[in-house]
Amino acid sequence: MDTPSAGLSDLLHRQREAWRAHTPDRAQRMDDLARLAAAFKARLEDFARATSADFGHRPRVETLLADGVPVVHEIAHVRRHLERWMRARRVGTDATFLPARCGIIPKPLGVVGIISPWNYPVNLALVPLVDALAAGNHVLLKPSEHTPRTSALLAEMLADALPSERVAVVQGGADVAAAFAALPFDHLLFTGSTAVGAKVLAAAAPNLVPVTLELGGKSPAIVAPGCATARNVARIAAGKFLNAGQTCIAPDYVLLHAAERDAFVRHLREYVAVHYPSLRAGGDYASIVNDAQHARLLAGLDEARAAGARVVTLPDDAAGDHARRILAPAVVLDAPDSIALMREEIFGPVLPVVTYREFDEAIGYVNARPRPLSLYVFDDDRTRIARVLAACTAGSVAVNDCVFQFTQSRLPFGGVGPSGMGAYHGHAGFLAFSKQMPVFRQARWSATAWLRPPYGARVERLLRFLLR
Ligand code: NAD
Repeated sequence: MDTPSAGLSDLLHRQREAWRAHTPDRAQRMDDLARLAAAFKARLEDFARATSADFGHRPRVETLLADGVPVVHEIAHVRRHLERWMRARRVGTDATFLPARCGIIPKPLGVVGIISPWNYPVNLALVPLVDALAAGNHVLLKPSEHTPRTSALLAEMLADALPSERVAVVQGGADVAAAFAALPFDHLLFTGSTAVGAKVLAAAAPNLVPVTLELGGKSPAIVAPGCATARNVARIAAGKFLNAGQTCIAPDYVLLHAAERDAFVRHLREYVAVHYPSLRAGGDYASIVNDAQHARLLAGLDEARAAGARVVTLPDDAAGDHARRILAPAVVLDAPDSIALMREEIFGPVLPVVTYREFDEAIGYVNARPRPLSLYVFDDDRTRIARVLAACTAGSVAVNDCVFQFTQSRLPFGGVGPSGMGAYHGHAGFLAFSKQMPVFRQARWSATAWLRPPYGARVERLLRFLLR
């Protein structure tokens, strides 16, 4: 049921008052996270069913693997390390100020807002929520309206597991989301498109709400000369066709040596034949989430064909099943830079191949475009890998694989430039939702007393010392 926008301010007010009255201590946070883990594990199959119903069809295993496992692991990781992360710590004091002492105390911020998208509707709602709770905050969550059954199940589970003044779910469409983004939160994390991310930043600005933006964009996979092997192509295909390409960190397009294009397409055809022997509904291949996304992808392919690109659908010119929004995997060759597939994030099972003759052309191609959310490099030559890492900046990088950088609790996850700002996951998430409060403790005796007026010869000597 949609939450009326008018009630949002009251909801935030109640959460903040409750947080002020009882800011979660470590025992409370550990207990909340344990109860969340139990409630989530008890509903894993329900989430798989709800998400599949929302998509039209989504393989149960993909929901359990990509939405279930990351949440369970995040809770376990955070609970294991929380005591250490919460500890106040000493840092060194500048020599001139000794014997004063310096330290940093991690403090919760207050009430955190989270806005999540439809493509991994559980993972991208609950992993930030876990990090925000671990840091001692209360949370308002606005999940996507495009996966309504999953959003309703999230609301029901969270209401069961945690008191509503600690975590509450707000449901509704873009109008509710816009009102939500304008609330005076203590921090706001948004996951979604770059275009909507800009609106969120603008909505947060009048209240100076700090934001973490987890956005999209085109994530390239650079395949070095000689590296279009069956193993590497399988790794690219596995990352691309998971969730039928509706993954923010899926390889968006491939940069390949011109001489290896045929081998690449052959390996890709073999991969699809082996792993998706039929694209029947109810199988191991997800549907496109809704008609609008499906129509967008079909229009992109039509535009590519009209512009002279070659679209090869796999396996063996599969037609897909439009009624069920099953879009056959497709590789696109010789596409001009001007078409939508080459300019905008694809977010579907369509893989353009761009060829180069000199390796540096691939680096130049990536660097001539907005900084990507993720960058993938397939290469066995360490020097060349180091060259790519030195030349390019991306939100995250995987070498000789893709997507799995997301699964690492010790790697911060976030974009750069138009692919996002800030990061979360594990300790990075704890820090994102905390204030690292610096504390300077003065000693009984301090040399600062010598710096007071009237300024005479002694202050001049001290100044010479300080400015040496
Ligand atoms: P979207 O931007 O259309 O919507 C995301 C959320 O924003 C939804 O909950 C929606 O209700 C809300 N929203 C809509 N209008 C709003 C407004 N004016 N103010 C505030 N919120 C508003 O994105 P989507 O289509 O759900 O997801 C796909 C996009 O998300 C892709 O670009 C993808 O790359 C990106 N994405 C990024 C990550 C990441 O971790 N960086 C992960 C998944 C998806």
